[in-house]
Amino acid sequence: MGIPNHGIDPELVRRLTEDRRWLHAHPELSFEETGTAAYVAKRLDDLGIAHETGIAGTGIVAEIKGRGDSSKTIGLRADMDALPIDEQTDLSYRSENAGVMHACGHDGHMAILLGAAEVLSKRQDFDGTVRLIFQPAEENGNNGAARMLKEGILERFPMDELYGLHNWPELPHGTIGALSGPVLASGSFLDIVLKGQGAHAVLGRSRGYPVDPRVFTVEPVERTRYRPRNRRHSQRRACLHR
Ligand SMILES: [Zn+2]
Repeated sequence: MGIPNHGIDPELVRRLTEDRRWLHAHPELSFEETGTAAYVAKRLDDLGIAHETGIAGTGIVAEIKGRGDSSKTIGLRADMDALPIDEQTDLSYRSENAGVMHACGHDGHMAILLGAAEVLSKRQDFDGTVRLIFQPAEENGNNGAARMLKEGILERFPMDELYGLHNWPELPHGTIGALSGPVLASGSFLDIVLKGQGAHAVLGRSRGYPVDPRVFTVEPVERTRYRPRNRRHSQRRACLHR
């Protein structure tokens, strides 16, 4: 499918496609996004946008001021990390880091935010300040956002409102979904440890064989998969067993 233009400068679309593909080819895991951060910082430098690096490790906060003198400030946030997945595609821009892949689309989120940065900084047709937040470690409960908060991001860079974005391929092409408050699932982790003894199968039950209790413990948890707690804040659940 071609890239839809929607009236956006084709040169900008070309640059953002290049950004997305570079970021896709160089994925990094949570809190290891050093190459990613360097790439984003260079792009912000090239656009002449003031920014601070090294926030929560590899995070970046940039600032664009509008033309007016309003003290209102909003934040736009993109996540930066990739997943421990081996990419199995033949794309020309496939992952060059074995075992790591931008399979959640954060490469696209960063490209989108760089696009917003370019448009906002060139036009400055707003009254107030926009802060751009590139957040590390969104995946798997790695809590990049919590670390940014702990490091005082909201005190150092106050924002009246803060907007995040995540791609959602289940929406029809060209559609945007918006909600106030929590959207998408968060990661919650439950460790269940069953202790038993290994034994020959015929002796299992008399030697504390852990398989039966495992079945009875895992099955009820497994049954909750894909059952939204409520429709508005759909909570998707998946279980991993060892
Ligand atoms: Zn994601």
